[in-house]
Amino acid sequence: MFCPKCKAEYRAGITRCPDCDEALASSKAPAGQVGPALAWRGNDPVAFSRALAALREHKIQSYQIDDHDQLSHIGAYRPSYGIFVRREDVSRAEKVIRETFAGLIPD
Ligand SMILES: [Zn+2]
Repeated sequence: MFCPKCKAEYRAGITRCPDCDEALASSKAPAGQVGPALAWRGNDPVAFSRALAALREHKIQSYQIDDHDQLSHIGAYRPSYGIFVRREDVSRAEKVIRETFAGLIPD
């Protein structure tokens, strides 16, 4: 089971994420689920702008949140920045961001 907000994994039998108070899903990207999904979060403003630039480069529509209050409920470590993308783009976005930070951006 996965939390759709913070992507934490829980064992079967748990139905709600204790951090987000969100109903858990059986997969990270359930079919038919709508709304933005969290692609990245963190405290580093440089990483934040690099991740955003990478998503722009790959034409992935993103929604940024840099407001502490809005983010404080989604995770245990109180990140300052978050990037949401359309749910269908989330695995692509996570890959792009991962590759950006690994210095391996494909053309
Ligand atoms: Zn959660």
